[in-house]
Amino acid sequence: MAIYNLGSINIDWFYRVDNCPVNGETVAATGCVNGLGGKGANQSVAAARAGSVVHHIGSVGGEGVWAMEQLKAMGVDATHVAIELAGPTGHALIFVTPDGENRIVIYPGANRMIEEADVKTALARAKAEDMLLMQNETNAQVYAAKLARARGMRVVYSAAPFQLAAVREAMPHVDLLAVNEVEAQQLAEAMGLAMTDLPVPELLVTHGAKGATWYDLKNGEMLTVPAPEVDPVDTTGAGDTFVGYFCAGRDQGVETVECLELAVNAAALKVTRDGTSEAIPTLPEVRLFLE
Ligand code: ATP
Repeated sequence: MAIYNLGSINIDWFYRVDNCPVNGETVAATGCVNGLGGKGANQSVAAARAGSVVHHIGSVGGEGVWAMEQLKAMGVDATHVAIELAGPTGHALIFVTPDGENRIVIYPGANRMIEEADVKTALARAKAEDMLLMQNETNAQVYAAKLARARGMRVVYSAAPFQLAAVREAMPHVDLLAVNEVEAQQLAEAMGLAMTDLPVPELLVTHGAKGATWYDLKNGEMLTVPAPEVDPVDTTGAGDTFVGYFCAGRDQGVETVECLELAVNAAALKVTRDGTSEAIPTLPEVRLFLE
């Protein structure tokens, strides 16, 4: 089985600054590093490190070949990542001040230029037992979900960053919706429903340091797994690690309760590490952490 992930690929640029510039001010950064980011890429890396075969579907600009190579080096198949010369590659400019606060500007660029024809070509390889995963940082989600469903595939939608209109449009074509607890509440309120009445077969809700809950809304079942207590260093990518690990568990036929345990603990382990995609733990590391 395999996971096809229609997802963003970003280059994250981190600048260490004494203070963030105000209007008309120029500030010299005291340090600069870059890394692979984007919710899509992070979730692909997490699922691959959890042991699944992951085919990423996406697009980078001409200068983004580096990001594509990073993705491959982290174990993800990038055959269906197109190079969109009109780019640029999606990127985030992250200004970090000495107190640890940050300000971020994101530009989606090539992430929103994915051709439906490329999605179709990628999914033509998929089998009914494969899974489509998607988030909110690309275009073509509804197109991809309909196509995947027509092929008999399961569709998992990690609805972040949360946009109500996009979620409402995609929800009828989704088997499992993954959100954090604030987003779950926002969605339920906007639809005038209780969270457990949301029109989706399965719902995954993360509760930060408190862990996560899985709901089988069709059969009225639920499971909650608490997160282990850790000293948080950097929570960036925790949600993506969670989703990637949960999907990998499902892809590998693991019982839901074990999928949840692996996902919660992988995400908690990520929180103890600085960095984004490169800091996502491997399955052996998660198993060791669980001992
Ligand atoms: P983010 O946007 O920061 O990636 P999110 O809002 O999508 O995160 P959260 O609910 O904050 O998602 O966290 C996802 C998972 O990460 C949690 O279910 C938990 O397993 C783990 N996690 C997050 N924060 C902590 C913490 N302080 N201690 C332990 N685990 C944590």
